[in-house]
Amino acid sequence: MSAHEHLSDDALLDGLYGLTDHEPHLRECAICAERFSEWRRKRESLAGAAGPSTEVSSEFLAAQRRKIYERLERPQPRRLRWAPALAMACLVAVGALVYHPATPPAPQQRGDVSDSQLFSDAYSMDQSLEPSAAAPIHALFEGGN
Ligand SMILES: [Zn+2]
Repeated sequence: MSAHEHLSDDALLDGLYGLTDHEPHLRECAICAERFSEWRRKRESLAGAAGPSTEVSSEFLAAQRRKIYERLERPQPRRLRWAPALAMACLVAVGALVYHPATPPAPQQRGDVSDSQLFSDAYSMDQSLEPSAAAPIHALFEGGN
C-alpha cells in the first residue's frame, strides 16, 4: 500500500482491533485518522448497545476475537486471584488480635498456692508504700482464686 492510498474500511477495522498497524499512515493522513477515530467511536457505541444487524454481529465477532488475542497476550497471573482472599484472611487475623487480646499472666498462675501466697506477702509489704497501685493487681489475683 502506497503512502497516498487511503485505508479501506477493512483495513481500518483491522487497525481498530490491533490486527494491523496503520500508525504510520494515520499519523500523516488527517482524513484516515479522522475515519479511524470515527470507527473507534462507532465501536464504543456498539459495545454499549449491541443490535441484531449483521454489521453489529461482524463487529461483535471482531471484538470477541480481539478479547481472545488480549487474553493470549496478557494471561492473568494465577496468584492474583488469591489476593482478595489473602487480604480478607489478614483482616480476620488482625481482628482476632484486636478483639481477643492476650490474656493477662494472672490466670496462668491460677491454683498455684505458693505463688499466690508469695504475692500476698509482697502485697502486704507494698501496701504500706503504694496501696492505690497494688490494690487492682491484688483484686485480680483474688478473683482468680
Ligand atoms: Zn489516508
